Amino acid sequence: MIKKIRKFYSFIPKSRFLILIPIVILFFAFSSNYSVNNSEEGIKKQQEKSGLTYINTSIENGSSFNWELANDSVVNIYLNYDYQRNSLNRAYDHWHFLLEAKQGTDLTLVFHNFSEIYNGEKVPFDTWIMDCITAPDDRNWDHVPVEWIDGERMKVKIHMESDSLYIARVDPYRVSDLQNLVSNIKDNELVKISPIGTTVEGRELQIIQVGKDTAPHQIFIRARAHAWEPGGNWVVEGIIKKLLDNSEESKKYLENYAVYILPMANMDGVARGLSRFNINGMDLNRNLTAPADPNLTPENAAMEKWLEAMIAKGMKPDLAIDFHNDSNGPLFFSSAGKEKIGYVENMKVLEGILREHSWFSEHTSFFGTTSFEEGLMARYDIDALVYELNAHWIKGLDKKPLSDDWILLGGQLCNVFDIYFKETNEQ
Ligand SMILES: [Zn+2]
Repeated sequence: MIKKIRKFYSFIPKSRFLILIPIVILFFAFSSNYSVNNSEEGIKKQQEKSGLTYINTSIENGSSFNWELANDSVVNIYLNYDYQRNSLNRAYDHWHFLLEAKQGTDLTLVFHNFSEIYNGEKVPFDTWIMDCITAPDDRNWDHVPVEWIDGERMKVKIHMESDSLYIARVDPYRVSDLQNLVSNIKDNELVKISPIGTTVEGRELQIIQVGKDTAPHQIFIRARAHAWEPGGNWVVEGIIKKLLDNSEESKKYLENYAVYILPMANMDGVARGLSRFNINGMDLNRNLTAPADPNLTPENAAMEKWLEAMIAKGMKPDLAIDFHNDSNGPLFFSSAGKEKIGYVENMKVLEGILREHSWFSEHTSFFGTTSFEEGLMARYDIDALVYELNAHWIKGLDKKPLSDDWILLGGQLCNVFDIYFKETNEQ
């Protein structure tokens, strides 16, 4: 046998290395983890082997992006940036889609395009923490582990318990969730729904009032100026749920104050699954120190017109809070208000009550931009602040947040507001 082989090689001495070439090619073709055989048959085989059926980005509040099967079990997802007008700023923060694959399949999703530009500077990659949540039904979400890999990419391993799985970054709150909320409460005698204008795409913006016109204090709440940040919407759900629960507590609260809520300022962005800006590329939490351009930011123009009408009626809000999500969770007070002793004292009181009567335990600072708290303080002398809800960690509860935690905070805030107006009235 050995003799025969020797004979074979001696017969083709110069070709022996040539024989190795197809073997090497075959080895790489079968062992490569990151290449797809682009022949029609190769693609079909790859798809069958992977178990992947489809990635549906057209669900409500879904984000459009490009994706490709990298090998038998790896799917690359290339997030779309959301761009700001007149700047190089771009954000990537939102994902929400439906993964369809055969039950029992194991897939690795690799997310790309985390190179964000914020306030004209590239955001250092390691300062932003990302999360990924999954739900079989787009409702009951749970966190899954994520891993950061070279090239500013995020890796998530998915095991398919059934044929489809919803995947998102933060517990989504959709336009239809707001519509359901409004239709559930609109006939309540404590509730008034007032249209105040429309978004760029013509969606109606409404103020949800809970409480009486004659209440001694008014609170203005805005949520969802930035489309990826649903935390504020869940807080609003919690506030409304508490105030309308018909308890002795909530009746007492409503003797003290009424809330006026603009629940989804960037409704177009939410509908389209965008990250930050409105669909004209404008940041609804910038340039509030000057009147809004009704063509570029009709959402802010409507809010200002409503605020001015309230002031004209002698119903200027005593307190205004703009809810956001970030990766830190602070309260931002107005730098313009730093010179006003009353404002600084009031914010100190509010911070103390929040620390005692809610799960808030993050830091506070005076932040100087052209955002909500600056605009409302500088232009209307309203005690205003921004509450950034940490999208990734709730220090006070020692856990990663889901909608229930923000709903809980909303309920706690009703008590916080009651104490706040009692304490600040006494001063
Ligand atoms: Zn924000």
